[in-house]
Amino acid sequence: MEYRRLGKSGLQVSALSLGSWLTFGQQISDETADELMGVAYDAGVNFFDNAEGYAEGKSEIVMGKSLKNHGWERDTFIVSSKVFFGAENKGPNGIGLSRKHVIEACNAALRRLQVDYLDLYFCHRPDKNTPIEETVFAMNTLLQQGKILYWGTSEWSAAEIMEAISVAKQYNLIGPTMEQPQYNLLERKKVENEYLHLFNNHGLGTTIWSPLASGLLSGKYTKGSTGDTRLDMKGMEWLKESVLAEEKLDKAKKLQEYADELNIPLAKLSLAWCLNNPNVSTVILGASKTEQLKENLTTIDILPRINDEVIEKIESIMQTKPVL
Ligand code: NDP
Repeated sequence: MEYRRLGKSGLQVSALSLGSWLTFGQQISDETADELMGVAYDAGVNFFDNAEGYAEGKSEIVMGKSLKNHGWERDTFIVSSKVFFGAENKGPNGIGLSRKHVIEACNAALRRLQVDYLDLYFCHRPDKNTPIEETVFAMNTLLQQGKILYWGTSEWSAAEIMEAISVAKQYNLIGPTMEQPQYNLLERKKVENEYLHLFNNHGLGTTIWSPLASGLLSGKYTKGSTGDTRLDMKGMEWLKESVLAEEKLDKAKKLQEYADELNIPLAKLSLAWCLNNPNVSTVILGASKTEQLKENLTTIDILPRINDEVIEKIESIMQTKPVL
């Protein structure tokens, strides 16, 4: 495994990490989740990603049990939660980034994950109904209490992140260390354009999500059905419609041909492409089966093959490079 600094922080995070959205507490059994955690940890993964909103809090309960079950020493892994969407429907103060919800959601995540502190705590989305000052102060309270070690954002605009950094500077507080954006061969604008000054001038780290665009960039939907996948899960019609858009499928099909030429599984090529960006601190993997995770974890081995020629060819196929 390769380890990278989380932005300018001193924290070393495995280049590949494991997330639990849609899978833990929902799509897969608790036994499979426990097995995935073990496979990841044994391969050197040290970061496990979660959120209060995943499976309405069940995802954190399943992960917490698995962490306990494996008995790993606390200083050998990094675990996260995210606040914003709420774990269960608890009314107007059960969501958002108010001081009340940020503090209560953290305490609830600690209970569900059965840990004394969260290594990373994210604001899952910006909250238009809470002043950024209130959230920055709440995060710093949790830092002071030792309940979180680093805080960050997810899917915030560069301007919003910059505002949080400025507020923190103004009051001598600790600003966001990392952002969690979507980043893959089809979704590149934030990471490759909008956030550049945050990387260069403020040392922002990134924990990127949906590196395979929900499985599309593994190539499996160019060959066949959506059976036994997240796209056929109840309530995921919106995702199915987005993932199976004709233009995206066409690109995936062409990329699959190139991956075949290189004799590299497309999932690994797509993940390696993400890792090739030095502003990516960690690529969060998702998996519903241990075989998927095992395949994806061997991506590190093919990194030396991702040279300029390969990148150029991928660019010419995808045509998704944002204009600077
Ligand atoms: P991916 O885009 O990599 O999708 C993972 C899914 O793709 C798997 O669950 C599986 O789906 C399929 N898959 C994975 N590997 C293979 C393979 N080798 N061959 C075939 N199919 C494969 O990542 P996710 O969308 O799961 O995102 C990763 C993590 O990022 C999440 O778990 C979560 O922690 C985080 N996240 C954060 C968000 C945020 O707003 N901050 C939003 C979304 C995710 P299937 O079961 O269908 O086969």
